[in-house]
Amino acid sequence: MGSPAANSITVERRDAEQDRGAARGYLRLHMKIRIALLLVVVLLAALAWTFVKRPLVVPKAIGPALPSPASIEGVSFSVIRGAEMKSQEGFAVRGGSLTKPFVTAVVAFMVEHPRGRLLIDAGAGRQVTEHLKTTPLLLRALASLTVKAPTLDALASRGLGPRDLRGVVLTHSHWDHVSGLEDLREVPVWITPEELAHARSDDEGGKLYRQLEAHGQFQLQELRFSGDSYGPFAASHDFFGDGSVVLVPMPGHTPGSIAVFVSLPDGKRFLVIGDTSWTREGVDWPAEKPWLARRMVDFDAAGVRDQLVLLHQLQRANPELVIVPAHDPRVHVTIATF
Ligand SMILES: [Zn+2]
Repeated sequence: MGSPAANSITVERRDAEQDRGAARGYLRLHMKIRIALLLVVVLLAALAWTFVKRPLVVPKAIGPALPSPASIEGVSFSVIRGAEMKSQEGFAVRGGSLTKPFVTAVVAFMVEHPRGRLLIDAGAGRQVTEHLKTTPLLLRALASLTVKAPTLDALASRGLGPRDLRGVVLTHSHWDHVSGLEDLREVPVWITPEELAHARSDDEGGKLYRQLEAHGQFQLQELRFSGDSYGPFAASHDFFGDGSVVLVPMPGHTPGSIAVFVSLPDGKRFLVIGDTSWTREGVDWPAEKPWLARRMVDFDAAGVRDQLVLLHQLQRANPELVIVPAHDPRVHVTIATF
């Protein structure tokens, strides 16, 4: 045993060491908190950057010119406004305002032709509210749905039913384009083999398609493109065989996405581009969807960028062509209402 004085020095030394240890521990914790906060700030800044406007680079060279639009008597083009989802412009296109509202329209386009009525996409089904539940939680959190006129009801309001349709052609298989198919089971549905395989895979976007197909068959028709080019598109499918409705491949958003040219008797020509862009700015600037949206919905982001550049060039070379994103109601108002 040491003397009381020596014991007291040992205790003091131990206390001092404990104090230093506590101080070091406190400093380490403090440093960890600072690093964590810095990391959060960096991640938030990186996320914010993904919403900043960055137009895609457009090369000067342009592809082959579009053929003159076909002028077939009795062809008309209109839109069936099935439902609307309210969100922000900045979530729909990179560089859009995060405070400006954007309405995502869920629609079907109707082509009335002397040889039959053709829907481009099926629009909203009567169970569209239920169908929305098959989408990721984040997507639902960012948008609120209002049902307007499901496709079947819009047809009924004109005294028409599924049997009055020659078919539905799908720009792609995502929920907001196939919702209306549930009410149109007896109608032939044209879809590319690539898109059908994608919809039947474990892809998140094909959930509703798989669910609907599990409850009953669709009258599926294989959509294949011939070797005939149409302007800058290397392949095409002339639906009625007279040039009024010409389908072209537009892979990117999904592997089997397509776009549809519709020409009217007065020479006006539309190009429905599905979800390659959600907004007209996507083609005008051109700009892709913000990173978050791309992550959720685009299968091949680089492929989408290529298509946007092509569409931008096509628009520049053909100012009279009306390029129609499936979801932009500001473009839809320039089209007749069904
Ligand atoms: Zn869509």
